[in-house]
Amino acid sequence: MSADPARSGCEQLPGRLATAAVRSIAPYVIGKPISELERELGISEVLKLASNENPLGPSPAALAAMRASLDDVWLYPDGNGHDLKTALARHHDVGMDQITLGNGSNDVLVLLAEAFLTPQTNAVISQHAFAIYALATQATGARIHVAPAHAADSPMPYGHDLDAMLALVDADTRLVFIANPNNPTGTWNSEGQLTRFLERLPDTVIVALDEAYFEYARSVDCPDGMELLRRYPNLVVLRTFSKAHALAGVRVGYAVSHPDVADVLNRVRQPFNVSMPGLAGAAASLGDARQASRAAALAAEGRVQLGEGLPALGVRCFSSAGNFVLADVGRPAQQIHERLLRRGVIVRPVGGYGLPSCLRITFGTAEQNERLLGALAASLKDP
Ligand SMILES: *Cc1c(COP(=O)(O)O)cnc(C)c1O
Repeated sequence: MSADPARSGCEQLPGRLATAAVRSIAPYVIGKPISELERELGISEVLKLASNENPLGPSPAALAAMRASLDDVWLYPDGNGHDLKTALARHHDVGMDQITLGNGSNDVLVLLAEAFLTPQTNAVISQHAFAIYALATQATGARIHVAPAHAADSPMPYGHDLDAMLALVDADTRLVFIANPNNPTGTWNSEGQLTRFLERLPDTVIVALDEAYFEYARSVDCPDGMELLRRYPNLVVLRTFSKAHALAGVRVGYAVSHPDVADVLNRVRQPFNVSMPGLAGAAASLGDARQASRAAALAAEGRVQLGEGLPALGVRCFSSAGNFVLADVGRPAQQIHERLLRRGVIVRPVGGYGLPSCLRITFGTAEQNERLLGALAASLKDP
């Protein structure tokens, strides 16, 4: 124990004691925080369109409920999340015993991996799918089967090809992750595609249907997974309060599933995984019907504004059912990303998703979108 860690070889460092599965994980890259760029540039007007947050902010009812909850934060939160589960059960017309609450839906994705995966099993995901599926799977030592996505020139460029995913399911597959719509591509699968897939899937496989962008996808033929739960007991539908509900900072997500699956997830869940302000804010937000519709309306405007503005700059943009768009700048996107940073605009390069010439841009307000377009026009012209 006497060795100076700074001078010993890497193989001596304590990190080597972690499991091989965990050491194989490449860390998740987060959107650059506003405060970090402001410190670096010495400016105060940074615009962040990098993490698919809702620029309208939370419902006033949610803010009031969270503030009121602060008086009680010396107590542990309700570990059963009774009030929020009651509200969710009513909202979705499901039983409270079908709901699993998470510290963000990211937490629920990890619970699914912990509950269903071992090094002897595998999970099937799509190329270009949300990064957390692979991270959660890798931590368990399970194998990842990555199905090729639809081609760039197909009707749903880079989208999940459910037939290709089904072809990778074998006797050791325990989980399939489907993002509908997907992040960062904005692509989606129709109800017909999804039910055809579910019909043919063996009953030894759990399907995690991630609907983080559900509220934004009502104007396309993207199904409501909650309506499929009765027919498919192996289906788990995930939702979050981070996106349309604008509560990303307090971390609340949930799964709705067969009660058997909820029972298993609740065994691996930390007893107090959702904070008291989170529980209060989420329940209040669910009661404000205008929250989701305002978010969806703003995104619809952003879709039009960037859908016209980006191609005018020679940037290909793909149709998106989320509150963001995948934009192909036709050259290494990292470079454009850095130029945008110098102009105080943060977007998300998605080279890590196998899309090195693309940026993911969250829809902001009309004014914010205009600023993004101006900064992008200038960045594309830089020598
Ligand atoms: C943002 C996002 C989530 C969830 O985030 P949480 O804040 O952990 O609820 C889940 N899935 C996808 C596809 C997302 O983009």
